[in-house]
Amino acid sequence: MAKHYILSEKGNDYKANLHCHTTISDGQMTPEEVKEYYMAHGYSIVAYSDHDLFVPHPELCDENFCALNAYEMEFYDYETTEDFNIMRTTHINMIALDPKLEIQPFFHRKRYFAGNGVHNKHLIKFDESQPDFVRDYTPECVNMVMRECKRLGFFVIYNHPRWSLENYPIYSKYDEMNALEMMNGGSIVEGYIEHNYQIYDDLLMQGKKLFAIAGDDNHSKHDALVCWTMIRADDLSYESVAKALKNGNCYATNGPLIKEFYEEDGKLFVKTSDAKFITFSTNCRHAKNVFVEGGTVNSAEFELNEYDKYVRVTIVAPDGTVAFSSPYFADNT
Ligand SMILES: [Zn+2]
Ligand SMILES: [Zn+2]
Repeated sequence: MAKHYILSEKGNDYKANLHCHTTISDGQMTPEEVKEYYMAHGYSIVAYSDHDLFVPHPELCDENFCALNAYEMEFYDYETTEDFNIMRTTHINMIALDPKLEIQPFFHRKRYFAGNGVHNKHLIKFDESQPDFVRDYTPECVNMVMRECKRLGFFVIYNHPRWSLENYPIYSKYDEMNALEMMNGGSIVEGYIEHNYQIYDDLLMQGKKLFAIAGDDNHSKHDALVCWTMIRADDLSYESVAKALKNGNCYATNGPLIKEFYEEDGKLFVKTSDAKFITFSTNCRHAKNVFVEGGTVNSAEFELNEYDKYVRVTIVAPDGTVAFSSPYFADNT
């Protein structure tokens, strides 16, 4: 029987920060400084996701670095409270899958800028025939924006739900994202438990096919290099990296590596860096924890049953760092 790879058999693993802020909005490093700092720490990919300004950075791309064009869009619940301490919000990250995409959808000429954003709005392009877009903090509005952004060619990530104070009755209504931010470096540094495996299972159990990514959401060096996405791509061209992301050839980690993840003959196989635990989680009462008392493991297998709609893998390293795979989906249409 043939192997069906959940994480592509071929390609190179590239370390990526898919969430960052620069001096274009409220970050402290310039886009060039972010590139230099992350490259010095082994990264090959950064998605420049400044708040509400979609500023492409083709000037930063070279044979050793891929700058993905992105922006983070935020919806605040001003209707319920004006107190920021308890105000719910949703933040979504739009990463352009096509480097030629340069028009920012859903733009408002006067609102929603963060930090230096108001002074940098001349850097973006938008459709001037369109009226200013006013956001509602409603699932209908958030879903409509995500759906339209996907149609236009963006990869949509649901960011830091814990920091956003969103809970099941709210996030269960979000239908249109491509991925969940499993870890958010900025939130973790500030003390939020932004390890979103419970939320991930909640969403996956609803039948949503979401990939696992992680991002620093760094605004300075203080909240940089915390967690990252490993992307398995043919090369570092924008097109190859975007294709890998679109196909879910990625996982979230702050340490452990996933080397292989495939299905063969009704079984899942995973090979990893040294792990204290390799855990399989599913939509049903079917799970498995692989470990050796006092030692480490580097591989595990899992027999699928008829109820498994998805299976995802968590790898915990001896030092407590963790990786979250993107899932195997039984119905991979
Ligand atoms: Zn955010
Ligand atoms: Zn952010």
